[in-house]
Amino acid sequence: MKPNEINKWLFEVQHPAKGDKNVVELGMVENIDIQDNKVIVTLAFSKHRDPLAEYLIGSTKAAIIRNAPQGTEVEVKTVVKEEAPKKKPGLDLGLEELSDVKHIIGIASGKGGVGKSTVAVNLAVALARLGYKVGLADADVYGPSVPKMTATEGLMPDAFQDGEKEVIVPLEKYGVKWMSIGYFASPEQALIWRGPMACNALKQMILQVRWGELDFLLIDMPPGTGDIHISLVHDIPMEGAVIVTTPQDVALADVEKGVNMFRNKSVEKPIFGLVENMAWFTPEELPDHKYYIFGKGGGERMAEKYGMPLLGQIPIVQSIREGGDTGEPAALSTRPDGIAFLELAQKVIEAV
Ligand code: ADP
Repeated sequence: MKPNEINKWLFEVQHPAKGDKNVVELGMVENIDIQDNKVIVTLAFSKHRDPLAEYLIGSTKAAIIRNAPQGTEVEVKTVVKEEAPKKKPGLDLGLEELSDVKHIIGIASGKGGVGKSTVAVNLAVALARLGYKVGLADADVYGPSVPKMTATEGLMPDAFQDGEKEVIVPLEKYGVKWMSIGYFASPEQALIWRGPMACNALKQMILQVRWGELDFLLIDMPPGTGDIHISLVHDIPMEGAVIVTTPQDVALADVEKGVNMFRNKSVEKPIFGLVENMAWFTPEELPDHKYYIFGKGGGERMAEKYGMPLLGQIPIVQSIREGGDTGEPAALSTRPDGIAFLELAQKVIEAV
């Protein structure tokens, strides 16, 4: 008996679930070993507890016994060989639209409502005011706020075919190129997006956009630290992140989650620093007063604890909220709140 002879006998072992192809054709015969009058065949299965395993082991034994000299002993061993992982479902978008972008920075927060989008939009406007070429991709799939904060609601970015590829043209206003999932989906629609669908939509909104030449592309990340974030951080070549928080101690645990997301071993992106939003309250009629309604020095303590610079402190002022609602970002103004965003922009430039 020779292995190739035995291999031929195994053509008789058909797999009932695979169009009656035999185990040899299916590449399941992993090994044939002959020791004196004993034949040891190893069959490879692609999953544990294959329901047809016992049937195929029996058929293999029978085929050998039928053909081999009398008295031949047969043993059939099995191994499990996981199939090569299939390509992740997703869009096959390249990074070419980002090739003229110098710095891609994620704007993140451990949780919602701390003013992450407000900071992102105003930082973009402030960087543009300082003479830089800036874009902002609003990746906050659960609550895209860029259309409202820039009064570009209801506008639809153009798209055109460039060879094989369809590209989207960002909207331009206040010297910034804007892109948001909010231009394409109603808020109700965006809210039901989950998992891979949200990830694909976001990737498309960043990678299919003709950003052109930019000094800074800010990515307004969704709040929190879930799968979407991990996928974004992996797929978009971000240089690092800026984390937005409010000063309360309770925000600390959330900041920690945000920090871990970027410092995690598989990612290891630098955090350029922390922005303390709502650092104090200043009433419009008393511009020199500071009321530390969420406590004082929280931002400093957090920055120190996580070993990163405190890039800026933004007060709570009515004009920042109003700017968000009317679509005229506070950073356009020469008021103290506008200056606070310009100073933040300056610090971000230095940090990057
Ligand atoms: P997030 O993106 O973290 O969910 P937003 O940027 O949407 O938070 O802000 C939540 C609300 O708080 C908005 O109405 C915004 O106008 C308001 N807000 C944010 N920062 C300030 C601030 N420094 N002063 C006044 N209002 C602010």
